[in-house]
Amino acid sequence: MRRSHEKTLKNEKGNTCKIPRAEAVKICVKGTVQGVGFRPFVYRLAKSMGFTGFVKNTPRGVEIHLEGDSSVDEFIARLREEAPPNARIDTLELASSQSEGFTDFQINITAEGQALVFAPPDLSTCSECLEELFNPSDRRFRYPFINCTACGPRYTIIRALPYDREKTSMASFQMCPSCNDEYNNPVSRRFHAEPNACPVCGPETFFVEGETLKKGGIDIAAERIRHGKIVAVKGLGGFHLMCDPFNPEAVKKLRLIKQRSRKPFALMARDVNSAKSIAVISPEEEEILTSPSRPIVLLRKKMEIEGVSSGLSTYGIMLPYTPLHALLLENIPVVIATSANPRESPILKDESEIPPGTCDCMLTHNREIVMRCDDSLVKVVDGCLVFLRRGRGYVPEPLELRFSPGKRVLALGGELKNTVSIVKEEYLVTSQYLGDMKDLRNQEYLDEVISHFKTLYSFEPDILVCDLHPAFTTTKKAENWGRPLIRVQHHVAHVFAVFAEHSIIPDAPVLGIAFDGMGYGEDGNVWGGEFFVIRGTGYERIFHFRYVRQQGGDLAVKEPWRMVLAYTLDADINVNAVDALVEVDARIVKNAENAIKKGINAPYTSSVGRLFDTVAVMTGVAPEKIDFEAEAAMRLEGVALADVEDYYPFRLEKHEIDMREMMKTLLKEKAPPQVKAGKFHNTIVQIIKSIADICRSRWGINKVVLSGGVFLNALLMSKTCHALQEAGFEVLKPEKFSPGDESISLGQAYYTALKLKEQE
Ligand code: ZN
Ligand code: ZN
Ligand code: FE
Repeated sequence: MRRSHEKTLKNEKGNTCKIPRAEAVKICVKGTVQGVGFRPFVYRLAKSMGFTGFVKNTPRGVEIHLEGDSSVDEFIARLREEAPPNARIDTLELASSQSEGFTDFQINITAEGQALVFAPPDLSTCSECLEELFNPSDRRFRYPFINCTACGPRYTIIRALPYDREKTSMASFQMCPSCNDEYNNPVSRRFHAEPNACPVCGPETFFVEGETLKKGGIDIAAERIRHGKIVAVKGLGGFHLMCDPFNPEAVKKLRLIKQRSRKPFALMARDVNSAKSIAVISPEEEEILTSPSRPIVLLRKKMEIEGVSSGLSTYGIMLPYTPLHALLLENIPVVIATSANPRESPILKDESEIPPGTCDCMLTHNREIVMRCDDSLVKVVDGCLVFLRRGRGYVPEPLELRFSPGKRVLALGGELKNTVSIVKEEYLVTSQYLGDMKDLRNQEYLDEVISHFKTLYSFEPDILVCDLHPAFTTTKKAENWGRPLIRVQHHVAHVFAVFAEHSIIPDAPVLGIAFDGMGYGEDGNVWGGEFFVIRGTGYERIFHFRYVRQQGGDLAVKEPWRMVLAYTLDADINVNAVDALVEVDARIVKNAENAIKKGINAPYTSSVGRLFDTVAVMTGVAPEKIDFEAEAAMRLEGVALADVEDYYPFRLEKHEIDMREMMKTLLKEKAPPQVKAGKFHNTIVQIIKSIADICRSRWGINKVVLSGGVFLNALLMSKTCHALQEAGFEVLKPEKFSPGDESISLGQAYYTALKLKEQE
C-alpha cells in the first residue's frame, strides 16, 4: 500500500557496487522526485554525511554528484529510507565519475533543461504545515494557502514545465521578503516551494453572498453551512457544493439543485475520528484516506444519514485536503461535498461558470485554477486500491514504459468515462476523468486537456489512437487530425491498460479477460464478455459469451427487463414463467419480443454487464428500470452471499460460453435471491477458471489479466483472484488505474507503443 516502490539499484554493468574511496559517484534517480522536496532532502542528507558535490533536476529525474570519504552505500540506503513522503523512487542508477574537487554541497538550479513529463499531482496539506496553520505564533496562523515542498497545489496550477513558479498561476503573486528568503534557503521546508505564500503576499479568500463581498469569510461560510445553507466552495481542482448532511431540508434542496434522485453524495469529514463516527474504517482504508492523495474512499456505513446515500451500504468520505478545507471544517465534523457542476458536465473551476441558483452563497479565492480536476474516488478490496474515478492527487503521475517507442502518441480513448493519454519518449501520462463524450461540454473539456498537455509537455503527436467504434466523437476527432491513425478494439485496450500499469510486455502468451457493459466488436456486434490469448500485440478472441439480442440498444441498459426477455427467448423459456416480465405491460413485451425475433433495433451482445443486469432483475433484487448506471449489478453484488459454494451449469462450446442451462435452473430453483446471487457470482468465477485451465493446457499460459468495469464488483474480483491463485495462476488486475473505461486511452496508448516497438 506504500506509495513508494523501488525497482533497481545498479551500476552501468547492472551490478550493485561499492565505490572506491576518493572517487566521485554519480547517482541518477528516476520516479516522482520533482516538486516533492527531493532536492532539499538530498542536500541536507549529503551535507549531514560530509559529502561535497551537487544535486540537480534533469529532464529524466534527479542527478546527484557525490565526492568525499563517507559511505555511498549508507547514503543510498538513507536516500531510500528517509525520502520525503510524496517522493517515489522508481530506479536508482549508480556510476563512478570524475572528481571535480567540490568544497561544498550545492543545489544546482540552472541548466535543468526541458523537463519531460514530471508535473506532480496535487498534494494534501502536510502535518507540519497543519501545525503552523493552527499555531497562533506562526506568521501563517490561519492562512488558507499555507504549503511547502511536501504539500500544496501542483497539477491544477501548472501551465508549463519545468515546474517553476513563473509557469504557475502563482506567478501573479510577488513573494514578500520573508517568503523569498524561505524560497531561496536550501535548508528551509519551503526551498523552491513554487506556490509559497503568506498573508502578506499570497492569495486570499472571499465570501460572496448576494451583492456583498467580504475578504476572508471562512468563518461566515462555516456558519452558513451550520445554518442549512448550500455553500459553493472553491478548492483545488474546482468548486464543491457543501451543506450539512444532518439537515434533511438542506440535503433535499441540494438534490433538487443537482437533479439527483438517488445517486449518493460524497462527504468530507473533519478528521479520521469524525469519519469513524459514521463509517467503519479498516487500517488499510485509513491509510488511503489519510494519504497525501486524499481521495474519496468508499467506506461501510455505521449509521444512516438520511438522503446521502440511500439504498447503498457505503458512504464516500474524504478528509480536508487544503488548508482552506481544514479551516472551514474546524468546528464542523462532517459536510456533504459534491462537485458544483450541473449533471454530467465538467467540474467548475471559475465563479463565472456557476449557473445561477446553484448555491446560497460562495467561498472563493483569487488563486486561479489552471486545470480543473475532480476528486478521485476509490475503494479498498482485499487490501488493494480500486479506482472508481481517477483524478486529483494521482493525475498526472507518469508511467515509465522501460522502452521508448520512438514516436509521440496521443490516445483519445472511447466515449463513456473518458480520459486521454500521451506517450512521450519512455513515459506514458493519462489525464484525469473527463466524463461522457456525448456531452458537448465534456468534449470541450477533452480539448482543454489536450491543449493543456500540448503546452505542459511541449507535445505534438506523431500518431493518433482511437476506438474501433466509427461513430464516437473521439474517433471522428482522431480521423480529422491529419496524422497516422491506429484503431484499437475496446476490450483489447482494457487488457493492455492492465499490461501498462504492470509494465508487462507479453512475449509469452497471456490470457486477457475483459468484462464490461459494451464496446464495439471486430464483427460489428456489441462485445463485453471477452477472453483473449495475447502474445505481443497479436491476439485471438478464444471465448466470448453467447450472443443475445440487446433489444432497444441503449434503452436495454436503463430497462434491464429487455435483457431478461432476450435471455428468456434465447433459452426457450416460456415468457409467462418469468415474474419480472409479467410485471411489464404485456403489449410492450410483445413488441419487444417481435423486435428480438426479427432482429429490429436489436444488436447482438456478449456483454457480461448485461448478464449481471439480467440476473439482478430475474432474482428480483433490481427493478425492471434502473436509476443510475450499473445500479442493477451493484444491487446483485450487494445481496450476494459470499459463503455460498455452489454454481450453476454452463457450457463451453467452441468459442462460445453458453448460459442457457443456467437461466433455466436459476428460474426453476426455489432459493432466496441472496443464494441465487451468490451462485451466479460463483458461476462466472468457474467459467473464468475453466477457460484459464484450457489456456494452460493448450498454450502453457500461467498469467491472467482481469479488466473491464464489471471487475469493480469486489465480490467477483476477490473470488476470481482466489480461485485463479489457488490454481497457481498469476493474476494481474487494475490497481493504479480504473478497471473501467477511464483506462481505455491508457490501453490504446500502451498497445500502440508496443506496436511501434515491434516495428523497430
Ligand atoms: Zn506542507
Ligand atoms: Zn509572503
Ligand atoms: Fe469498457
